[in-house]
Amino acid sequence: MFVPRSLKVKRNSNDDIKSCVAKKIKPEGEDLQLDQGRDVSVYTSVTEEATTPDRPSSQSGPFPGLAGPLREDASVGPEQGAEEPVKSFSKTQRWAEPGEPVCVVCGRYGEYICDKTDEDVCSLECKAKHLLQVKEKEENLKLSSPEKVGSEPESALDAAFYIYKEHPFILNLQEDQIENLKQQLGISVQGQEVTRPIIDFEHCGFPETLNHNLKKSGYEVPTPIQMQMIPVGLLGRDILASADTGSGKTAAFLLPVIIRALLESRAPSALVLTPTRELAIQIERQAKELMSGLPRMRTVLLVGGLPLPPQLYRLRQHVQDKKLFKPPVLVFVDCRLGADLLSEAVQKITGLKSTSMHSEKSQVERKNILEGLLEGEYEVVVSTGVLGRGLDLISVGLVVNFDMPSSMDEYVHQVGRVGRLGQNGTAITFINNNSKRLFWDIAKRVKPTGSLLPPQLLSSPYLHDQKKKEQQKDKQTQKDMVTGANLMDIIRKHDKSNSQK
Ligand code: AMP
Repeated sequence: MFVPRSLKVKRNSNDDIKSCVAKKIKPEGEDLQLDQGRDVSVYTSVTEEATTPDRPSSQSGPFPGLAGPLREDASVGPEQGAEEPVKSFSKTQRWAEPGEPVCVVCGRYGEYICDKTDEDVCSLECKAKHLLQVKEKEENLKLSSPEKVGSEPESALDAAFYIYKEHPFILNLQEDQIENLKQQLGISVQGQEVTRPIIDFEHCGFPETLNHNLKKSGYEVPTPIQMQMIPVGLLGRDILASADTGSGKTAAFLLPVIIRALLESRAPSALVLTPTRELAIQIERQAKELMSGLPRMRTVLLVGGLPLPPQLYRLRQHVQDKKLFKPPVLVFVDCRLGADLLSEAVQKITGLKSTSMHSEKSQVERKNILEGLLEGEYEVVVSTGVLGRGLDLISVGLVVNFDMPSSMDEYVHQVGRVGRLGQNGTAITFINNNSKRLFWDIAKRVKPTGSLLPPQLLSSPYLHDQKKKEQQKDKQTQKDMVTGANLMDIIRKHDKSNSQK
């Protein structure tokens, strides 16, 4: 079974791989354009696999983890392009463009994701070859460490009880020997009670599979940054490390991260943020190498500039923590057409499950949408004011006022959909000159909460006009008010006017 990238998918109900057809919604280039000319935030996340990768498709639909609406969309509008069968042979696949995923077997365009291994493959042929290779690799691993036959559960067990303890060899070294070693290797540390460096990977007591992966990657001995960082990381301490490029920093943090991920039942267990897309790709590749064969370990690469659907697919497949998708986002717009169009655009561009809500929806539809929203079926609901009031949507975590409502009263009701029952929530409001008469009211209401207001709003002449008018009005009201200070003046004025009559 495959998951096509940037494709919408339609399959026959018998779930036969040969009947699988893929439908392009737009060329990859369009996705790429999304991030052109913009900085991208990039991160690689190391997670424990949350779902069984090869659960039966009868339970999960033909493409496990693929968002339902993606499949529904496959059968809509003819404008979405011609249907295209899954490629059977490697030779019918094109070569990958720079930056595109590459088939792990033949190096052509990795159009699909193998559901068993999560690797990129170009065709059914390469998927079959790839699975054979994986099987062979597993067999070899078993042969090379016969005591670990069926090693997966065993290494899970090893890992579950993993605690870093200084190896007797390291323990038995004299303090001056350690200092001498550090000096020679250029290791300098600050901090309290920093544990001694290791000298060999064997000193870490890693599970066999991990030791095997290290050897396979050609890591015979640790580099100096690894010697010091790995044991400190394994003890769970915070580290700020600095070493030259190419000195092995990646493995220095990945190895403790992998051990931590093995121990944790929650996912994601680790989040790696990098300043560039290339670095994220490189780190994910290294993480995959080191994690190979370890139980329940997965990575998800999230980068700008590459199609979102496969990234979201992997995220859904491997990240157990549903909080990444929940609570849903509620977007308010000012008209029905806007709700329909924006909902469609959100789904197409982000792959998030989105729906619209407005007065043209029947009662049954509204009820279904509300239920879907509360049960986490929808990740985004784009609504007109109909959802603004009264409903206790406790699960909404973010409200976006895509169109600023026409009154402050309505605005308060809309943003009040988040943060109910003491929960935290966020509201993002887009404003333009269409709501200029509310500028000062918005500033007054939002400023005391400590939220950031855009300088364009704060320096707007409309806001200053309204503020001035209000201040003048306040002054007049104060003048008209009876206070201790002006009471005698008022009585005198009153007496004077009476006596004149
Ligand atoms: P890095 O500084 O993390 O980018 O690593 C630079 C290169 O050194 C990468 O190709 C790593 O795979 C490799 N490397 C990292 N640690 C070791 C090691 N202990 N032995 C051999 N190669 C290593």
